[in-house]
Amino acid sequence: MKLSEMKQLLVERDIQLTKSLGQNFLHDANQLRRILAVAELKQADRVLEIGPGLGPLTELLAEQVGEVLAIEKDARLVAVLKERFKVGQASRLSASDEGTGGTPILRLLHDDALDYLKRDARDWSEWKMVANLPFSVASPLLVELALAARGPERMVGTLQIEVAKRLHAEPGAPDYGVLTLLVQLNYEPQPWFKIPPSCFFPEPDVDSACFCLVRREPPPLTDDQRGVFIRLVKRSFSQRRKMMLKLLKQDWPQPRLAQEFERLNLSPQIRAEKVSREQFIQLARNLTEAPAA
Ligand code: SAM
Repeated sequence: MKLSEMKQLLVERDIQLTKSLGQNFLHDANQLRRILAVAELKQADRVLEIGPGLGPLTELLAEQVGEVLAIEKDARLVAVLKERFKVGQASRLSASDEGTGGTPILRLLHDDALDYLKRDARDWSEWKMVANLPFSVASPLLVELALAARGPERMVGTLQIEVAKRLHAEPGAPDYGVLTLLVQLNYEPQPWFKIPPSCFFPEPDVDSACFCLVRREPPPLTDDQRGVFIRLVKRSFSQRRKMMLKLLKQDWPQPRLAQEFERLNLSPQIRAEKVSREQFIQLARNLTEAPAA
């Protein structure tokens, strides 16, 4: 989809873009191709797209995979998408609000994707997520999918470069924190690449990046242990400069914590920013067990 087509659609419909919905549309064909290559799409794939906008990514996805579920919050864009995909690509695509009427290749939902994901805790394990994410909700959306009991096999998309760096951060780095650990628990980050503002319309104020997360097999923690991991990470980073053991005393008894820190060879003075994903995982496993006699 060319930039001129995007502008024309917006003018024809008198659509003024909404900054709070992160409406920066990706028109650079080269970058779209690179994103799709990272997604390693196959004809049998099912793809969840969050925020299809005017559909530049949607149309390419629908050419390459078996099913696309696209969730868009802005009713004006949903109307454009319905028209574009029904009329333009009738032989390949059909749009449906309810997903009824045969087996549509493209299902289009008018909804807030975050609300939808929270409401509908479905099994995404045989899906991929591919999206140019709305910046304002990119992190909560990723966390929601990454911590789902059965999350997508691969998640690929664009977001602010600062957030991509946080997804990849190593212990001790300033970007390392809650987002890093909640996403990396079940997903292995792959190398990211930068996408300049000029590839979007309108141009965002910040650089973007294409990220890729691949689900780890098998999942490192059980459902119960995952709950403990989330609690541990959030509490440990609630005051970054404070000693982790002191913060955790709000949730677990001090003697138990002291015992588990010693078992893992963790200094009682250590701060959360120095504790690795593997150490948080082991601590979550140990704290889920009954205390040692
Ligand atoms: N995929 C299109 C593209 O590449 O040009 C648009 C991407 S634009 C960065 C983000 C899109 O997400 C916008 O269309 C916006 O309306 C939509 N959006 C924003 N918040 C949303 C939400 N909570 N749920 C679903 N869509 C949302």
